[in-house]
Formats: sequence, C-alpha cells, structure tokens
Amino acid sequence: MVQVKQDVCDFCGTCVSVCPVDAIELLEAVLIIDQEKCIDCMKCVIVCPLRALEGTK
Ligand code: SF4
Ligand code: SF4
Repeated sequence: MVQVKQDVCDFCGTCVSVCPVDAIELLEAVLIIDQEKCIDCMKCVIVCPLRALEGTK
C-alpha cells in the first residue's frame, strides 16, 4: 500500500504520470491513490522529488 503525506506533497503530478495502472488521481489539493488499482510497483514512491509517498507492504 502507498500512502500520501498530503502535507508534504506539492501536487506536481510527477507520480501520476509514472503510474502504470492510472491509480493516482490528482485533485486540486488532494492526491488520491486507488488502493484497488494499485499494484505496489513503487514507481511513484521512487519518482516523488519530495518523498511525499510512503510504501508499506
Ligand atoms: S510526485 Fe510527490 S509531490 Fe508530486 S504529486 Fe506525486 S506525491 Fe505529490
Ligand atoms: S505503487 Fe505503482 S501502481 Fe501503486 S500508485 Fe504507485 S505507481 Fe501506481
């Protein structure tokens, strides 16, 4: 599971573009990860420049 630290994220959208299953949705000031779609590939966690995403298995 990937969790978003909403207070760290600056909503740049970088993670959205790397997700292979389109599980990340960026609303105005909220980042939502669809846990049903997410396959725990950790691409978003690696790519986030602010380390706003945390992966836990
Ligand atoms: S890459 Fe990081 S800072 Fe950018 S939208 Fe995703 S979680 Fe937020
Ligand atoms: S871990 Fe992979 S599948 Fe899950 S939200 Fe991040 S990029 Fe998408």
